Amino acid sequence: MKDFDLKLPENLDAAIGELPAEYTREGAQVLAGGQDIVTVMKDDIEQPAALVSLQRLGLDGIQWDGDGGVTLGATVTVQTLADDADLERAFPALREAARSIGSPQIRSQATLGGNLNQRPRCPYYRHPSVSCFKKGGSVCLAEFGFNKYAAIFGGGPSYFSHPSDLATVLLMLGATASVSGPDGERQVPLAELYVLPEESLETETVLRPDEILTSVTIPAPPAETRSSYLKFKERASYDFALAAVAVSVVLDGSGVVTDARVVLGGVAPKPWEVPAAARALTGKSMGPEAWTAAGAAAVADADPLEHNGYKVHLVKGLVFRALESLA
Ligand SMILES: Cc1cc2nc3c(=O)[nH]c(=O)nc-3n(C[C@H](O)[C@H](O)[C@H](O)COP(=O)(O)OP(=O)(O)OC[C@H]3O[C@@H](n4cnc5c(N)ncnc54)[C@H](O)[C@@H]3O)c2cc1C
Repeated sequence: MKDFDLKLPENLDAAIGELPAEYTREGAQVLAGGQDIVTVMKDDIEQPAALVSLQRLGLDGIQWDGDGGVTLGATVTVQTLADDADLERAFPALREAARSIGSPQIRSQATLGGNLNQRPRCPYYRHPSVSCFKKGGSVCLAEFGFNKYAAIFGGGPSYFSHPSDLATVLLMLGATASVSGPDGERQVPLAELYVLPEESLETETVLRPDEILTSVTIPAPPAETRSSYLKFKERASYDFALAAVAVSVVLDGSGVVTDARVVLGGVAPKPWEVPAAARALTGKSMGPEAWTAAGAAAVADADPLEHNGYKVHLVKGLVFRALESLA
């Protein structure tokens, strides 16, 4: 790992001022909990000459808006999201997702902003001596190689799957990120935060190199909303999702779905919302018929590679079970 400068700015403007307008592998980058950035530096994927710490910026608050919505600071830890009793009452799916992340040691350091901005986990991308599209190369080795963990939606030319559990659930919850840069602050709905490889190979989000995600706001859910996050891992210990589903349904008095949202994780280069699955639920009574139809609709556009067809079956089962848990 190469030497780097550690910058500890005392305010947001100073932090932004330390960041470069254009991406280069050597340009300064943001440091939050360090659970990912240090790894990509050790693996020689990025070599920033400086890390700009968010530690002294006071971005670790949790602010309720009085109507049931909440704004979470970017450096709130994943462990806080897993433990906070008010968040659990209001957004149980968020807590389920947070609890599924890493180990207690990782969760106690990892932050919300870092989790949303973590880099892909594709073994080719992470390998120090392998070149690929994401690292300026001219090939995606996952496309015809080891693609068990790769995307079944939205792939090409690169086929990694997005690793963040929080991104999946926050998109389902209709959250919006606040992003600050040299031109001021802008609001980016989670649905617009991520880009596909066909739009950008260098980065996974619309954030510019000199922008900092400062907070995420979750609106109050409509009354009678039920939501759940269900993740399938390869092993019982900490692991990334092979596939995950975040679902919410709004029910009328007789158990009929009046609104729904279904977002998949671990199956595409970004959290993958499937409006067709939501449509399959809307107007239907909660029950096995509707859940099966939603699962089938969720995978209708799947385009698996040689070794990840199992994800199609996994998603169908997860959608069914997540909905069943809400009934
Ligand atoms: C063993 C292990 C298991 C894991 N399992 C899971 C899992 O199951 N599910 C899951 O979702 N994650 C998992 N993770 C990933 C982990 O959750 C992330 O590495 C962590 O959340 C990153 O947060 P951080 O604060 O440490 O970010 P950092 O490592 O400090 O930063 C990560 C990236 O985000 C950028 N960044 C950080 N904060 C901001 C910001 N506010 N604005 C703009 N850019 C920013 C950094 O520049 C860097 O590129 C696992 C990690 C490990 C090591």
